[in-house]
Amino acid sequence: MWGTGFFKGLGFTLKQLKEPKVTYKYPDEPVIMPKRFRGIQHFEPDKCIVCNQCARICPTGCITLVGKPNPDPEKKGKVIDTYDINFEICILCDLCTEVCPTEAIVMSNNYELATYSRDNLLKDLKWLDNNNQNVREENH
Ligand code: SF4
Ligand code: SF4
Repeated sequence: MWGTGFFKGLGFTLKQLKEPKVTYKYPDEPVIMPKRFRGIQHFEPDKCIVCNQCARICPTGCITLVGKPNPDPEKKGKVIDTYDINFEICILCDLCTEVCPTEAIVMSNNYELATYSRDNLLKDLKWLDNNNQNVREENH
């Protein structure tokens, strides 16, 4: 027959029904990450001066970039042509954004990278530019 342990357990379960829920309905409802969360980068091509510092400091070598001469003859320097991050090996360490002198690359609060193909984890300039939602407040 049922012992005291059963009723003790049942009592505990019924008590928990009244407690606030601690679970999320993910993925139906996105989880809101803390302000300082290091998520997938947002890249603004217009701000990039092709200094290469982000690629140089990256500990996993996952940034590849190519610049080209500024098409405006009045202006010196280069503009960015291609900018890719390989999220197969990016560890979201934040170093690239810390060294960027113009804040062309900043962290966001986005974390959704799940995919069926590894090829989809190579994100190009356009994708990173469009990843402009949930950029950290300090970078607005
Ligand atoms: S977050 Fe870290 S690993 Fe990822 S691209 Fe930037 S420097 Fe490289
Ligand atoms: S550090 Fe910033 S400005 Fe320099 S190449 Fe990287 S993104 Fe562009």
